[in-house]
Amino acid sequence: MPDIRLPDGSVRSFDKPVTVHDVAASIGTGLARAALAGRVDGVLVDTSFTIDRNVDLAIITDKDADGVSIIRHSTAHLLAYAVKELFPEAQVTIGPEIENGFYYDFAYKRPFTPEDLAAIEKKMTELAKQDIPVERYELPRDEAIAYFKSIGEAYKAEIIESIPQDQVLSLYREGAFTDLCRGPHVPSTGKLKVFKLMKVAGAYWRGDSRNEMLQRIYGTAWAKKEDLAQYLHMLEEAEKRDHRKLGKQLDLFHLQDEAPWHGVLAPQRLAAVAKRRTIHASHPRACRLSGNPHPDGDGPHHVGKVRSLGKLP
Ligand SMILES: [Zn+2]
Repeated sequence: MPDIRLPDGSVRSFDKPVTVHDVAASIGTGLARAALAGRVDGVLVDTSFTIDRNVDLAIITDKDADGVSIIRHSTAHLLAYAVKELFPEAQVTIGPEIENGFYYDFAYKRPFTPEDLAAIEKKMTELAKQDIPVERYELPRDEAIAYFKSIGEAYKAEIIESIPQDQVLSLYREGAFTDLCRGPHVPSTGKLKVFKLMKVAGAYWRGDSRNEMLQRIYGTAWAKKEDLAQYLHMLEEAEKRDHRKLGKQLDLFHLQDEAPWHGVLAPQRLAAVAKRRTIHASHPRACRLSGNPHPDGDGPHHVGKVRSLGKLP
């Protein structure tokens, strides 16, 4: 029945409908293993997608930019799965792919800590190693709303409520976790091998500051370990550059503010300092207004500030 044309122009004919995975397997077991998704007449689909007509098909692997996108997107779901395993009270909201990675926003009673992130990442690795199938199924909109309400996912139910009435929605199940999504996704969690959680930040539900504050967890995901290492190295170098820049600025402060006070001060300078300190102590308010602490009239800041109040001999 379907004649399937591949990117190299060759055509494979099948006598019954086949999935993207079947086509990949007919080409080779290596490709079947590497297949993350398919592009059918230009549209990205899961490897479980059934082809029952003549189409152009490209098998997507992690060598394609689309493959890496699908990895990142699927890792966001894996993150949500891990969070639900460790913090069942947390509610899932949205989790898109972003440049170099992904994030997922959770409603939770407190911010996640660095220790939480380490535990979540460990759980993600465990779930990935189990190579759990990621299965797509469809539900009518109202049933999907009822389903998410029944499992305490109010935010998901709210998202679906904003989708037009007549739509059939796709849900994806991986193990004990089900998420609403258009897909496509990797066929199983085992395809997600290279990821790292980066940070957590606050984010408002629907980006509106009148709404609840959610906990946004950022992560990065890649096709290969070397790609992740390279990315982290790049971030490190960027941070070093920032530190050097900051260091230079600090050195400048040192030169301007502190160096003159180092070592033995000439007696007339000491007298000047004492005098300025007295002036300064009588104007603590000015110091507070400058945004700096006013502890005991001592310390480098203070000396610097005193000096800036007037010219030294
Ligand atoms: Zn998804």
